[in-house]
Amino acid sequence: MEISVTLTKNPKPLPEDENKLGFGEKFSDHMFLMNYTAGKGWHDARIVPYGPLSLDPAAMCLHYGQEVFEGMKAYRADDGRILLFRPDENFKRLNNSNDRLEIPPIDVDFCIEAVKKLVSVDKKWVPHIDGASLYIRPYIIATEPKLGVHASHEYLFVILASPSGPYYKSGLKPVKIYVETKYVRAVRGGTGFAKTAGNYACGLKAQEVANREGYSQVLWLDGVEQKYIEEVGAMNVFFVIGDEIVTPGLYGSILPGITRKSSLELLRSWGLNATERRLSIDELIEAYKAGRVSEVFGTGTAAVISPVGELKVGDLIMTFNNGEIGKISQRLYDAMTGIQRGRLKDEFGWTVEVK
Ligand SMILES: *Cc1c(COP(=O)(O)O)cnc(C)c1O
Repeated sequence: MEISVTLTKNPKPLPEDENKLGFGEKFSDHMFLMNYTAGKGWHDARIVPYGPLSLDPAAMCLHYGQEVFEGMKAYRADDGRILLFRPDENFKRLNNSNDRLEIPPIDVDFCIEAVKKLVSVDKKWVPHIDGASLYIRPYIIATEPKLGVHASHEYLFVILASPSGPYYKSGLKPVKIYVETKYVRAVRGGTGFAKTAGNYACGLKAQEVANREGYSQVLWLDGVEQKYIEEVGAMNVFFVIGDEIVTPGLYGSILPGITRKSSLELLRSWGLNATERRLSIDELIEAYKAGRVSEVFGTGTAAVISPVGELKVGDLIMTFNNGEIGKISQRLYDAMTGIQRGRLKDEFGWTVEVK
């Protein structure tokens, strides 16, 4: 399928200070759109000026939440090349989300071409300073104008590009996290493994309560027994316990992060004992009390590696590594960002260049 390009006649001014970009607040000059109609498939792939969508107020996504999304980044390498990080993984995951939400599949290679073309058209929007990047948000919404509850027969696929600033302004800063013991995010058999809007809507309440108490995010426990550790708001989580680096296994309720996967692959390539298994909050507390938990960190596209300095469970406040970044967290951060920025050799073949 050809991708048509209509360039904007009113380019926006580029950000003046890339340090002040924040996350997901500004958008580039163009966006990618593509429609799906039952019987016809995906059609009309196009890059057009960024602007409001025209949507029937009865569009099904507005009523029943039939939506999926992805999050990825384009980085400006030190030598000027523009690199994507494992985009095939994003679109494979999008298809898993599509399947769960009864949305028709997309062609992974075509979507990578669409991202490359959009980033290429909006090349000047890829930030230059260290730590900043062009955040890319593909999503699919159900657009059929019907109020009956069934899978839509029409969809819109959108890709937005948003220049985003450095996550950490002055080195990696450990975050404080609150272990949520009342609300749950996902259950096995539900939609936890899919990147779909409803998972985030149902997490907002716990997030607001945690924020009011001075915590930046919540750590979710499993939805059945509220006993096993799952993940943080938009990050997977790792614990260094003795010489084991453990992250909860993927049993259907956790989002399978690409940063999580890449971290496991890097740790194992360094000969470290990185495991995926069930980890109960009680096992963590016991190990903490025995002085065996040396580092805790989150992994996700936004922050890459986010050290956790404090974890609050009920009345117990656990602090890790004196609230400073640990050795393993720092090593992973340096390796991952080094590959993304083209500073280190890409031994795994993870980067894809945008020409
Ligand atoms: C996106 C996301 C992650 C991290 O996934 P990455 O592919 O590493 O960015 C983890 N948990 C949730 C709930 C997410 O939405």
